[in-house]
Amino acid sequence: MSFSSDIKNELVAVSGDACCELAQAYGMAEFGRAFSASAVSLQTENKAVAERYAELLFTVCGVTAPVETPPTGKSGLYTVSVSAEDRRRVLSRFGHGGNEVALRLNRANLDCDACAAAFLRGVFLVCGAVTNPQVDYHLEFSVPHFNLSRDLIALLGEQGLAAKIVRRKGNYIVYFKESEQIEDCLTGIGAMNASLELMNVKIVKSIRNNVNRAANCETANLDKTLVASLPQIEAVRKIERAMGLDALPEDLRELCRLRVENPDYSLRELGEALEPKISRSGVNHRLQRVLEIAESL
Ligand SMILES: [Zn+2]
Repeated sequence: MSFSSDIKNELVAVSGDACCELAQAYGMAEFGRAFSASAVSLQTENKAVAERYAELLFTVCGVTAPVETPPTGKSGLYTVSVSAEDRRRVLSRFGHGGNEVALRLNRANLDCDACAAAFLRGVFLVCGAVTNPQVDYHLEFSVPHFNLSRDLIALLGEQGLAAKIVRRKGNYIVYFKESEQIEDCLTGIGAMNASLELMNVKIVKSIRNNVNRAANCETANLDKTLVASLPQIEAVRKIERAMGLDALPEDLRELCRLRVENPDYSLRELGEALEPKISRSGVNHRLQRVLEIAESL
């Protein structure tokens, strides 16, 4: 099952006070497939969402609308259509005439402080989707009406959620890409489990990234050290062949031996291996002298 349908199954079980139930019913009705004098209907692949829509139409509007299931054995959409004689009742319950040129959000349907969240829950149930956070961070509402998409963005903004908008196949896609916004949105509309799951995925991802970064970092540093030590080792070999290491001043002799035996040592590590210890820049200085001696041979 997809992450979206998990969230929807979680959300259909959330209920609230009478005013919030009305707000959620309004969100589902207005952002459903049709909300006008010629049709009030919903189509969804999620059976539980269709049932919740029918339930709210009944409790909030006193209207009975059956859930039509797709033919058995076939995947398809569940449909709920309000009959012609009941449409007027549903529309007027939410303060709409049904003949508006441009559908707008009627704020009169949002009463208490929690109503906006309930409304958004309804909107998400009928036109929302979240990508599996393992793959990407993306939450969207797909809205067919321009003005309504603007009103939705404004309402989300009042909840502290800054949504973006893009057009796709004739719909207005109101979306979030930031994981924090998606978490806040899911928590706000009542999908606590989904929000927690997203946080968990994020934590696991960031641990994995840090481990990878640390491993890459170590490998890169090791490679750098090895590359830097090669000319030093060559210089020591050259000196050895030409005049023998014993001909070198004493402070260089031990360092040359350590360098050849430990090509992966950094300058600091070489300095610490010497007796007595010397600083990183001290090692650097001595190696420069070794290189110069080899050069002069
Ligand atoms: Zn309320």
